Amino acid sequence: MISTTVLVIGAGFSGICLGAKLRESDIPFIILEKAQEVGGTWRDNTYPGAACDTESHLYSYSFRPNPHWSRKFAEQPEILDYLKNCAAEFGIRKHIRFGAEVSSARFDEAGGRWIVEIADGEIIAAQFLVSAVGQLNRPSQPHIEGLETFKGGILHTARWDETCNLTGQTVAVIGTGASAVQLIPRIVKDVKRLVVFQRSPNWITAKGDRPYTAGELGWFRRVPLLTWLHRQFFYWRCEKSWPEFVNESKAARKAERNNLGILESGVGQATLREKLTPRYSIGCKRVLLTDDYYPALQQSNVELVTDSVRRIEGNTVVTESGQRHPVDMLVFATGFRATEFLAPMAITGRDGRDLHDIWKNGAEAYLGITVANFPNFFMLYGPNTNLGHSSIIFMIECQVNYVVKCLKAVRRLGRNTIEVKEEIMRAFIGRLGTALQRMAWVASCSNWYKLASGRVVNNWSGTTSWYWWRTRKPKLAEYRLD
Ligand code: NAP
Repeated sequence: MISTTVLVIGAGFSGICLGAKLRESDIPFIILEKAQEVGGTWRDNTYPGAACDTESHLYSYSFRPNPHWSRKFAEQPEILDYLKNCAAEFGIRKHIRFGAEVSSARFDEAGGRWIVEIADGEIIAAQFLVSAVGQLNRPSQPHIEGLETFKGGILHTARWDETCNLTGQTVAVIGTGASAVQLIPRIVKDVKRLVVFQRSPNWITAKGDRPYTAGELGWFRRVPLLTWLHRQFFYWRCEKSWPEFVNESKAARKAERNNLGILESGVGQATLREKLTPRYSIGCKRVLLTDDYYPALQQSNVELVTDSVRRIEGNTVVTESGQRHPVDMLVFATGFRATEFLAPMAITGRDGRDLHDIWKNGAEAYLGITVANFPNFFMLYGPNTNLGHSSIIFMIECQVNYVVKCLKAVRRLGRNTIEVKEEIMRAFIGRLGTALQRMAWVASCSNWYKLASGRVVNNWSGTTSWYWWRTRKPKLAEYRLD
């Protein structure tokens, strides 16, 4: 049986970040990656138009700025290249075992270590276990009656098949979230007809994307301080926008007025505008950044359908009111199973406690990182650490810093295990629940941040600077160290 100090699950943005910091600290580790390449969501999401909707200079590691970003919001191939380069530069690739999907992990109390089983049956033992699988790794595809009778191509944005040719086809896109608004403008010119099925309209704001000029790129390359200042500018602009995500705030009302103005000036036809007008508070769903979605919807080959999809009959999509839409291809832009944290892995902690059983009313963790009764277990981009207003990479760096400091504390104090105290975690979850009540995502809309019960399990309640402050170093009195 192979044995290591830290076992990391996943080689996406979080896993690579942790790998870099573990190497810096000379802590032995192995990363298990179920696919054959690094990159996580940026490896998997290859649909046309896939791009970042946070400025790339902020959506990158602070310790590895990239003066070469070709535009404000880089597209998927450039982000994936960045991650591959980081993995190579930080010497992480040799620590990664590709094609290794974790099926279960069990804390062995007698040995004070995690026993992790890979799908092929291999067992690895590790003192510490870190999940870096993120929140957006498992696509969600709704069950639609009669889908099995559909004879054309079926795609999901998160599992795009590049061999599928949409040119000259009549294509149905189901869903109008962050992925759809990037995909639709990119394919509209190639397809014969595009039928867009919208269940709820979104708040849409201007993206302001553009390529960097040769002059700007030259400055970024020659003067690292400028790249840093550029990042700082985006960071503080995002932080400043946080009040827009507080329910009924003045900032939210102002943002709504601005975005309705964009809709008003961007969509001439009143009935289309009416269909695109959200009837819930801004921020409840992710605010979408795009400059080309409204123009795409107004092309003569596009129809926006707001009647719900009822069933599929052969190659026809039938809506609730009985409208029939014959199509050649179906594209699901229906998002991810984001609330099912760590599924389908079985994680067993102290006294045989099953993590999914403990989380049956919703995933929760202290600072989104540690769970009582699960010693030496950490999560990156775990419960309640997603954002509506800024870069998730910033949050991941905070978590990595926190985890590495915990590992060092165990080593420094000559202990073997570290585990958050139950009462500390419970008090935190209580305060978080109260703070979340004032945030936009609890308002009346469906979103992927909350469960059917209304409990928000994905999002953080505050600013990122507040999260940084809370995670800058672990308070060891909050932990049991054995
Ligand atoms: P999403 O935001 O969850 O959107 C899913 C869409 O599918 C929604 O419009 C939803 O309608 C619709 N839908 C779901 N089930 C449906 C059903 N049964 N019938 C009809 N419509 C249905 O998913 P996403 O667009 O893939 O984005 C998910 C997240 O990924 C984003 O919020 C973002 O955090 C991330 N993302 C980021 C980028 C980026 O630029 N960095 C790009 C893509 C995605 P309702 O609104 O009515 O639920």
